[in-house]
Amino acid sequence: MQQTKGPQKSFVIFIALGLFFLIMLNALLPSLSRTQKVPYSEFLQMVESGQVTEVQQSADGTEIAFLTKDQNGKTSYYLTAAMTETDLAAVLQQHKTAEDKPIVFGRELPSKNRSLMMFVISWMLPLLLLLGLGILLMRMMQKKMGGNAMSFGKSNAKIYVQAQTGKTFADVAGQDEAKEALTEIVDFLHSPDKYRSVGAVMPKGALLVGPPGTGKTLLAKAVAGEAGVPFFSIAGSEFVEMFVGMGAARVRDLFKQASEKAPCIVFIDEIDTIGKSRDRAGSMGGNDEREQTLNQLLTEMDGFDGSKGVIILAATNRPDTLDKALLRPGRFDRRIPVELPDLAGREAILKVHAKKIMLDENVDLTAIARATSGTSGAELANIINEAALRAVKCNRRIVNQTDLQEAVEVIIAGYQRKGKVISPKEKRIVAYHEIGHALVAAKQTESAPVTKITIVPRTSGALGYTMQVPEEDTNLLSKEEALNKIATYTAGRAAEELVFGSFTSGASNDIEQATRLARSMVTRLGMSSEFDMMALETVSNQYLGGDASLTCSTETAAHIDAEVLSIIKTAHKKALGILTENQDKLHRLAAFLLERETITGEEFMQILNEEPAA
Ligand code: ADP
Ligand code: MG
Ligand code: ZN
Repeated sequence: MQQTKGPQKSFVIFIALGLFFLIMLNALLPSLSRTQKVPYSEFLQMVESGQVTEVQQSADGTEIAFLTKDQNGKTSYYLTAAMTETDLAAVLQQHKTAEDKPIVFGRELPSKNRSLMMFVISWMLPLLLLLGLGILLMRMMQKKMGGNAMSFGKSNAKIYVQAQTGKTFADVAGQDEAKEALTEIVDFLHSPDKYRSVGAVMPKGALLVGPPGTGKTLLAKAVAGEAGVPFFSIAGSEFVEMFVGMGAARVRDLFKQASEKAPCIVFIDEIDTIGKSRDRAGSMGGNDEREQTLNQLLTEMDGFDGSKGVIILAATNRPDTLDKALLRPGRFDRRIPVELPDLAGREAILKVHAKKIMLDENVDLTAIARATSGTSGAELANIINEAALRAVKCNRRIVNQTDLQEAVEVIIAGYQRKGKVISPKEKRIVAYHEIGHALVAAKQTESAPVTKITIVPRTSGALGYTMQVPEEDTNLLSKEEALNKIATYTAGRAAEELVFGSFTSGASNDIEQATRLARSMVTRLGMSSEFDMMALETVSNQYLGGDASLTCSTETAAHIDAEVLSIIKTAHKKALGILTENQDKLHRLAAFLLERETITGEEFMQILNEEPAA
């Protein structure tokens, strides 16, 4: 982030502007007052013609300033150089103004400090004013940014204490293993003697790893709330801002502050930004900075012993990129996995967040939890919020099951696009496509039951979709299930082919998913006969989608492609076969879906299981 860079730069610009303004002001001022310089003779003529009303000689006697008034009563201001030989006072006394009044005249009081005064007024005063203004502006900016531009290298880790995070373990649902591991740390901070007497050394650091949105940051905050000790929280990216070399200084400062405040907790969020493996640097130069920061962090972690009561928590969703040195015993030797929640976990998270809203009595959160397999805590929190928003939109104060179900679909498939016009012909294609998926899914064993089919378009671009909700969370995928899934993916296109004799682009997403699954069957899951249990791909970055890289020769890669293709082709044939066998059901269901636009799993099963009318 460039949060402290901002004020720094703008301060310089501000000063430069101020100076420029000042110089301009001083250059322009004299001309602004429209003083006219005239020769002494002209001055005497003006005195004689009675235009002059006031005369003043400068303190040193070298200049004469005078005022004139013309017939229209307009006053002008003149300057002239004084002639020393003449007796000006006598001349002025002899003359009168046009209005027949005596001319006012005199000499300025001698003042030694005049030039100094002038200097102060025209230069120093505005300068001081500008400076004051600048400082004020800086303060305001800092307040907004929360940083302190002048204290270079001071880490701006925010100090949290219990009252400020306001989070406790009660706010974190599910994640029982993670909570248990962290409870131990909290306990150590409360009563270190208990551990010391046994001779046990507390781990210095614990690393929370898991996909985004699973509650890692939330857990760290909860630890702070539970432990009731100071809590320093800083994001990894904050180390690497501002000037080169500041990152290391910040680490040093952070640990200095922490050891002063011990017992306390230091939390480094998104540590992968500084903790990336050093040999991976790769890109041209510019990595020195991060490397230095990382080295400093390693040094600091070694530098203090755990008995002091400083515990370092860090969170990341890219543990595979972390430098090995960070993970060795004595540093982040504890790894706390924070995984996506299972069915019970999802229900618990929904319950925690549902406390904030008013729920209808017969809301079934278990059903919602079941329909949201694979979602993170953050997404579940979002579903509750979407449901509440929908209730408000319908002018209700109480959130009901329909709100929640609609919210799930919003998170999965985007908002309904009511305005989108789809021609009846396209609607027919979409209906057959979706029924194709549903029918093939239902006619195979080992595949999750269909719960909803809809052809209402969504903002995500989907023109319709079929929702399948497994009865329970599964952790293992059998080869049969995988093949059935691929057949189900291909079934949309198969239905189009069967009914219309041609096909559309509507299957692009299905194709992508089918290919991905078929590919991982071959390369990673050992589910192809040709390659058996040989690993052909390694996956890094498992929490953020997974980047697969081939670990085989190019010839093998060609074999893999052939194998993947044959899996998909077989599945496609199977899907076509199932649909051909059930053509009458396909037509009946598609017609029903076209009429209703959205049908439930029960309606679908009912039609599917009806005896054909004789
Ligand atoms: P990350 O793992 O990416 O750091 P966060 O801790 O920032 O995720 O979680 C984001 C939000 O998701 C939290 O503020 C909270 O509202 C919600 N959330 C995530 N996991 C849980 C959970 N286990 N229990 C309750 N809320 C959760
Ligand atoms: Mg986070
Ligand atoms: Zn499809």
